[in-house]
Amino acid sequence: MQLDLDVTGRKVVVLGSAAGARRCVARFVRGGARVTLVATDGPPGTRLDTVRYVAAPAPDDTSALLRLVGPAWIVVFVDPAAPLRDRVVELAGHLRVMTTTEAPAETVGAVTLVGGGPGRAGLLTVEAVAALGAADVVFYDRLAPTDDLAALAPAAELVDVGKTPFHHPVEQRSIEQLLVDRARAGQSVVRLKGGDPFVFGRGGEEMLACLDAGVRVRVVPGVSSAVAVPAACGIPVTHRGLSHAFTVISGHQRPSEAELDGLARLGGTIVVLMGVVNLEQIATGLLRAGMDPDTPAAVVERGYSDSQRSTFSRLGSLADDARRLQVASPAVVVIGAVVSVAPGLADAARVLDDLPAWADALTPDAALTSEDARAPDDVADRSGP
Ligand code: SAH
Repeated sequence: MQLDLDVTGRKVVVLGSAAGARRCVARFVRGGARVTLVATDGPPGTRLDTVRYVAAPAPDDTSALLRLVGPAWIVVFVDPAAPLRDRVVELAGHLRVMTTTEAPAETVGAVTLVGGGPGRAGLLTVEAVAALGAADVVFYDRLAPTDDLAALAPAAELVDVGKTPFHHPVEQRSIEQLLVDRARAGQSVVRLKGGDPFVFGRGGEEMLACLDAGVRVRVVPGVSSAVAVPAACGIPVTHRGLSHAFTVISGHQRPSEAELDGLARLGGTIVVLMGVVNLEQIATGLLRAGMDPDTPAAVVERGYSDSQRSTFSRLGSLADDARRLQVASPAVVVIGAVVSVAPGLADAARVLDDLPAWADALTPDAALTSEDARAPDDVADRSGP
């Protein structure tokens, strides 16, 4: 069982090796506690300004131990040897001081590439949450779930290396160097990315950079927006009888005519990430390659945020609709029959029947467009029995 306690101003005594206890110490300091580190292995390597450091007394030095335990609100054991731990437990019991135990931090630096999902903290995996909780430093991007990051990574320094389209404040090679340098300094480094790190996320390059530098690296996959963002408005990327394949492409660089031709011939669902800028070229290329202009299409912007917007259209009018409605990144474009499965599409048709002012320029044939900001839960609600 876990209790959530406010540690502000509380005296917390942490008992263990300086390296093993660093994460626990950082977390209590962040929480506003007054921390004394009773270190079993000499002073910490780096100076901790806000932390009082004391060398651990011998287990039989009762008066020294009483001076430490007596004023404490809680004693946290990280990795002390059993005799010292047992003696402190005994004294704390007499003094009615709480004790608890925490796993020590890793002492060998390593990098974990973590997929953060499409932006909502609830779509982080359990393993992603564990990696964040164990991090000394988190390098994160704009599309990762950043709102709750301080709570998810309570011991970590948080560094925004935030990429936005066509703007990378920290160059890719510099990011890789930062990961390597911090891991070499013994830190547990998390590189948090939106979606999955290996789907248009440059995670592969970061993994190779770590391996080249002899740094341990592992990958925690994430929920990719390629599948999850269509789902946010109820579009399944495959659907029995409609589509048994889906292709995910990047629209960051203009796809070649040959690629678009191949896509059109392959059939199935086409999912475009980073597709807003080149949407017109992609749509006209697919039409030139012979795709039916009536093919249903949708653009889902800011999936899983409060301002999520789904625009339903058809391939022939997709680019015009997107321009008129000022569709903006981040957005996922879905082209294919599966779009017609979306519950939102029925809503969009209803909206058109009502002919609100913004729909003046629309005709039902030209576009089925919903401007509702729709929370993903709505979709779940509607898909109930
Ligand atoms: N690795 C990521 C993709 C990175 S490319 C993943 O697996 O999801 C960035 C693109 O992902 C954006 O341009 C957009 O097309 C898409 N994207 C990511 N998060 C999104 C969101 N919450 N809503 C809409 N599109 C999103």
